[in-house]
Amino acid sequence: MIISTHGHIIHKNCSSDKCYEYYANLFSKAMNLTKEVVYEKVLPLVYACNAEAHVQAMEEARIDKSLIMAVDWGMNSDVGEAKWTIEEINEWVAKEAAQYPDKLYTLCAVDPRRGEKAVKLVEKAVTKWSMKGVKFHPTAGYYPDDPAFFPLYEKCIELDVPVCSHTATLITAPFMSKYADPIYLDTLAAKFPDLKILLIHFGSLSYTMKCVEIMVSRPNIYAEISGYQAQALIMPDNFLKTLRYVFDTPAFLGPAVKDRLMFGTDWPYLESFMDQKNWVEWIKNIPESAKEFGLKFKQREIKNLLGKNAEKFLNFKS
Ligand SMILES: [Zn+2]
Repeated sequence: MIISTHGHIIHKNCSSDKCYEYYANLFSKAMNLTKEVVYEKVLPLVYACNAEAHVQAMEEARIDKSLIMAVDWGMNSDVGEAKWTIEEINEWVAKEAAQYPDKLYTLCAVDPRRGEKAVKLVEKAVTKWSMKGVKFHPTAGYYPDDPAFFPLYEKCIELDVPVCSHTATLITAPFMSKYADPIYLDTLAAKFPDLKILLIHFGSLSYTMKCVEIMVSRPNIYAEISGYQAQALIMPDNFLKTLRYVFDTPAFLGPAVKDRLMFGTDWPYLESFMDQKNWVEWIKNIPESAKEFGLKFKQREIKNLLGKNAEKFLNFKS
């Protein structure tokens, strides 16, 4: 079974016009297109990424299950609130996913600075909409270890759902990479040993070793590798050597790091680097492709990365 633990569905009303303006600027520069073309041709493709499109892309890539989510950017003062409230955004995600009950699973995207509202929303999301956990994007402007957020973590433990938090540098202005440092999630792992924490993007290029070091001593921390498409494409030897090193790292406490590492795609955001289908094929082919660099990988290790570890993390029955 192949499981992506990170993907998106998008509706125009899930972010503010100002937020899309930042995206349009980025796309325009990165793709060398005028802003008019981005608004006319590129953004409508982004807005069309609903559950139907997500499942179609999964089928093309032979992904069996996907964990999908929105992003709560609303508390960032540079972009401001979306047209929909954060509750409406998450409800839309849940309703979309409910059309594909064996394929799509959801996280509740929320900024913990919403305080009591966030706690209530997460409770509703899990108990009423069957959401599987919480999604943070701290780059909106907060450190996840703020004691003001602890009631939210206590609620997550009570509901037995993980906190999944972005840990990678970001090219999208005005969001800030310093808040993505995984060290702030180490605080949660230390204070709340019963809280499951997922490091989204496994630290990407800059924080990988920090993530590994944290995972070695914190058995309640997990990670997923979406975002590494860029490394796989540009410097495959570096990515494969890192992966081998990670697979060989034992943990002081809990299961080995490799048994807590999962696959993810971040569809549709990284399609321009490597499309989801090629990303799945790239990972499947590691035991063969790594030979070129003198590295050995077992089929079982790759199977666990692609699905088995996520089955356990998300309590799926195989
Ligand atoms: Zn994402």
